[in-house]
Amino acid sequence: MKIPANDPSLRSWVPVQEGSDFPIQNLPFGVFRTAANPEPRVATAIGDQVVDLAVLHDLAYFDGLDLPKGIFRQRWLNPFMALGREKGRAVRNRLSELLREDNEDVRHHAAHFLIPMDRAELLLPVNVGDYTDFYSSLEHATNVGTMFRGKDNALMPNWKWLPVGYHGRASSIVVSGTPVRRPCGQYLPQGEEKPAFGPSRLLDFELEMAFVLCRENPLGQPVSVHEAEDYIFGLVLFNDWSARDIQKWEYVPLGPFLGKSFASTISPWVVTLDALEPFRVPGPKQDPEPLPYLRCEGAHNFDIHLTVDIQPEGADATTVCRSNFRYLYWSMCQQLAHHTVNGCNMRVGDMCASGTISGPTPDAYGSMLELTWRGTRPLKLADGSERKFLLDGDTVIMRGWCQHENGVRIGFGDAAGKVLPARE
Ligand code: MN
Repeated sequence: MKIPANDPSLRSWVPVQEGSDFPIQNLPFGVFRTAANPEPRVATAIGDQVVDLAVLHDLAYFDGLDLPKGIFRQRWLNPFMALGREKGRAVRNRLSELLREDNEDVRHHAAHFLIPMDRAELLLPVNVGDYTDFYSSLEHATNVGTMFRGKDNALMPNWKWLPVGYHGRASSIVVSGTPVRRPCGQYLPQGEEKPAFGPSRLLDFELEMAFVLCRENPLGQPVSVHEAEDYIFGLVLFNDWSARDIQKWEYVPLGPFLGKSFASTISPWVVTLDALEPFRVPGPKQDPEPLPYLRCEGAHNFDIHLTVDIQPEGADATTVCRSNFRYLYWSMCQQLAHHTVNGCNMRVGDMCASGTISGPTPDAYGSMLELTWRGTRPLKLADGSERKFLLDGDTVIMRGWCQHENGVRIGFGDAAGKVLPARE
């Protein structure tokens, strides 16, 4: 399928700095408001500008696309996403035409719909009904398994047969920039038999990405692995903040609970699957061959560079992890097929996170747990300080981008959050 908006040679009349996450080839979707106009509206991003789609709609620039009235004057992307991937593609292709360098007419009206991004408040873009977290990185599962059960029992017997996951908490998903308070909870101090209660001492991040659903399947009707991509609108960066001490004490036998549900941070722009199309790559070879309902030929992974920075209070940031979405063993298609194979119905706005995305080398590990190997190998930061886990005042910044050969980069914007001291 040819998507005109993806042509890497396109240029916009909006200035786009080299290395920007938001060239004309990206055109992600988000929701924003400004101090001058507090009504939330749907937007796209280009360069360092926000484009107000509600105004473009009013000015008749979407004529012929048969969009419902008021579709962009919304608090959430959900109603727009529910129109389906094809409608999303039509809007993105139209935006590409409107913002192209030769489009003088639109440029003359720019003052009506172009807003500097630093004057816009980017809101949580999706009303997330349900959130599921997978565990789909072979390297991450192997690292964590090795730490807790030893090398020989690192992977559970089910791991290579199904994309392991659990139901997470949607209500505590927050947009980039929202501070995250260190949680309090129960944990078992080393060598003790009774738990203690207090602020988590082992606060961690998990580098993940999440896909957003734009289509429902009726209860009882699975989504096949071959149709799965029709249900996926796009992706965001996802920090699955984790309190390792709380998690370790509580997780048997039903899995993660309060060690996870205190916060998850996402990036403010949903980058469409369409924009990622040129960066499609095959996933790792799967051995054993999955059961038929999970079998899927072709390239269903994406080459998305990922980094994590830690920025201590008042100091420079240090990049502590460089990974890539393509390392994931189980693809999004397989995750969705597995999620629905029992007839579970997905809804528009549901979010499925990948699980921590670790790569093969120690600098590609996607959590402090792995980077410091359970705190035994502290990280050195640029300001000279060391970290076993996160300290109060640390800001964790996740970034992700795909890169064309000509340098054009399809980025996600930051997923950042600062750790606040526990409330005691
Ligand atoms: Mn996770």
